[in-house]
Amino acid sequence: MIFDEQTVLIRDTVRKFVERELIPLELHVLKQEVSADDGSALSPEQFQRLRDVSKELGLWGLDAPEEFDGLNLPQVTMAAVFEELGRSITHFVLPPDTPNLRMMAAVGTPEQKEKYLRPYIEGRLTSAICISEPGAGGDPAGITTKALRTADGWVLNGRKIWITNARQADFMIAMARVGDGGRQEGITAFIVERGTAGVNIQRAIPMVADTLTYELTFDDCLLPEGALLGQVGQGYAPMQLRLVTRRLEMGARCIGMASRALEILCEHARQRVTFGERLADRQAVQWWVADISTRIHAARLMVHDAAEKVDRGEDVRHEASMLKVFATEMAYDACDHAMQTLGAMGMTKELPLYHLWHRARIMRIYEGPSEVHRQTIARRVLGGRR
Ligand SMILES: Cc1cc2nc3c(=O)[nH]c(=O)nc-3n(C[C@H](O)[C@H](O)[C@H](O)COP(=O)(O)OP(=O)(O)OC[C@H]3O[C@@H](n4cnc5c(N)ncnc54)[C@H](O)[C@@H]3O)c2cc1C
Repeated sequence: MIFDEQTVLIRDTVRKFVERELIPLELHVLKQEVSADDGSALSPEQFQRLRDVSKELGLWGLDAPEEFDGLNLPQVTMAAVFEELGRSITHFVLPPDTPNLRMMAAVGTPEQKEKYLRPYIEGRLTSAICISEPGAGGDPAGITTKALRTADGWVLNGRKIWITNARQADFMIAMARVGDGGRQEGITAFIVERGTAGVNIQRAIPMVADTLTYELTFDDCLLPEGALLGQVGQGYAPMQLRLVTRRLEMGARCIGMASRALEILCEHARQRVTFGERLADRQAVQWWVADISTRIHAARLMVHDAAEKVDRGEDVRHEASMLKVFATEMAYDACDHAMQTLGAMGMTKELPLYHLWHRARIMRIYEGPSEVHRQTIARRVLGGRR
């Protein structure tokens, strides 16, 4: 991949940040159970240091609009950034988290952008996305959370589940249905600030990969008129924009994850001797190395292709679905083969492999399960739309 000078500079800076700051914290992350309060394995001091160092390095607001003092970097550059971040199991988001940024930048009013987007970009606010419900996850058009217009604004009622960051986020973008229409009809986005009366966190749910999600209810939750994000009933498309943004990021992160797993596999295979021969000289191991290397290369080309199209303003929903399936399954297989190569050592919780494998596993579910994306891809192709 040939990158321009700016991309190389940013990528190398992120690479150093990952090597000098994130990877040294991995031993701590491996030992630490994630905290039920903040969903993080890092102490407040460790987290603050990562914020301070990454800010000092100029790594905040990388793809934020220039009007908010962001660098407005192209997606091709951002893909290189996410690939580097994917290499470490120390989870850290360079402020701001891109998907909600994209959604708010696309449909937010000037007032909402000043109130929420600017401080979000400046790393002063955090956010969550609130779509999934007990009866609608992979099929978000099935949501039943209701939003009713009142004289003063809106009232929300419904139940949401699997919401990352719900307890910690300063605000959530919540999807609800206005009116009695079916499927995408009526789906509307709202900004819900933390502490709003009627938002009740029911429980924290520990997930694979040491992540936490939350179940919550909206019980006669009153929102002001200004909480409406975008147009009434027009929330599905901006929500998709957000999901597509995350899927491209996940594709790039998976390349970093798989590359790390492959490095661990190769290092072990070069020195481990069984039955008088190195594992590196066994065909079974060589084929894993060859296949994973090939799939990493293919995923990188897919990410680059989709990123270039985004930078040209093209619709990449189809590419994002293909990438989401291909890259998450590739990263999962890379971790699995690396674990197999390391034998019992690969089964320990003492290596980053275990975390990478778990992370790749959950990635096959969130932002849409593989099967749902395969269905969407096939329908587009069979329907002659691609
Ligand atoms: C770690 C994690 C974090 C998450 N964070 C958030 C968040 O912050 N906000 C949020 O709103 N949601 C979040 N989610 C929810 C996530 O988006 C949903 O779990 C996901 O979309 C799948 O929905 P579901 O769990 O209801 O599964 P379902 O939709 O019930 O699907 C279950 C399984 O059925 C199969 N299946 C479903 N549909 C089809 C089909 N058409 N064809 C073939 N097979 C099919 C698939 O194998 C699928 O895995 C998170 C999930 C996880 C795991």
